[in-house]
Amino acid sequence: MSSHLHITTPAEIAGDVEAEPSLRPQRLAEFIGQNKVREALAIAIEAAKQRREPLDHLLFHGPPGLGKTTLASLLAREMGVNIKTTSGPVLEKAADLVGILTNQREGDILFIDEIHRLRPVIEEFLYPAMEDWQVEVRLSDGPKAQTMTMKIERFTLVGATTRFGLLTAPMRARFGIVQRLNFYPPEELATIVRRSAEILDVKASDEGAMELAKRSRGTPRVANRLLRRVRDYAQVKADGEIDVEVARAALTMLDVDEYGLDEMDARVLKTLIEKFEGGPVGLNSLAVAMGEDATTLEEVYEPFLIMEGFLMRTPQGRVATPRAFRRFGYTIPDKAGPQGSLFTEEG
Ligand code: ADP
Repeated sequence: MSSHLHITTPAEIAGDVEAEPSLRPQRLAEFIGQNKVREALAIAIEAAKQRREPLDHLLFHGPPGLGKTTLASLLAREMGVNIKTTSGPVLEKAADLVGILTNQREGDILFIDEIHRLRPVIEEFLYPAMEDWQVEVRLSDGPKAQTMTMKIERFTLVGATTRFGLLTAPMRARFGIVQRLNFYPPEELATIVRRSAEILDVKASDEGAMELAKRSRGTPRVANRLLRRVRDYAQVKADGEIDVEVARAALTMLDVDEYGLDEMDARVLKTLIEKFEGGPVGLNSLAVAMGEDATTLEEVYEPFLIMEGFLMRTPQGRVATPRAFRRFGYTIPDKAGPQGSLFTEEG
């Protein structure tokens, strides 16, 4: 398997992390797109500042790579407070949070990524912290352990999740502001590409930026990654400028197709078509047939395939659409029958 097969995955891969600090917008005004979210945040920031109060607890949800972490850190900057970052799966016991919460200053932000994966004990511990600004500290172990209640400063919990539906109801209810991030349209991604190109000091024409944008599966993280790879290509094979020809040639070399689908997307759709006659098939059966993790399939790959009309989630299971059949050169099976057609015709 060559190294660029997963180049358009929205999940974080090696190389992203080092590049991100500089490309990451630092202020709300630099954050491109998601206008509704930006407006809501601007108002919340202004109101909190006027009242000299911490921001309400905030939850961002949506597919990976759309800017949830970026928003959390720029909120801290806008509010002029500190931010501590952790994530659901790494928090093992309440004690892991005691130190952070008792040391926070008023208004500081605690950012919890993948908050739908918090253990129940941690959730229970967080509720009084979020609501009454107090934490229960265990002084010893065992069934008769003594506990002590400690006051903490008012803080802001910012949660991020790719799976809003998996968040428990009591957790959901404790967020004053809930914002969904959506895939970016190509025009906004092109603006992001041009901004990143400027920071990386690489010339990109408007058409070149648009070409990258269209193949970035609606995701800024992917757009920035493609830009960095295409920059290398432009430097070595062209005179350094990313115009539309250079962009196309580089993307072809990187095996990025016109939709930004990668090898994993192709496997999802081909498995669905070849092993299950296009479905419907349950998520878990599909995952097992692919030797993949069902959660990754559902959170990282499906959202874009659904948005682009390659895949559908139906009550009976996952279904490959006619568009998916056509994309991979299969003939569309005749599924008309008592069930009727699962598909609606596209233009
Ligand atoms: P998430 O937390 O949703 O997975 P991130 O906040 O880590 O996504 O965003 C991934 C990268 O994409 C960031 O490092 C940033 O460089 C870029 N990015 C995300 N959203 C935007 C935006 N609206 N404008 C400019 N760059 C963005």
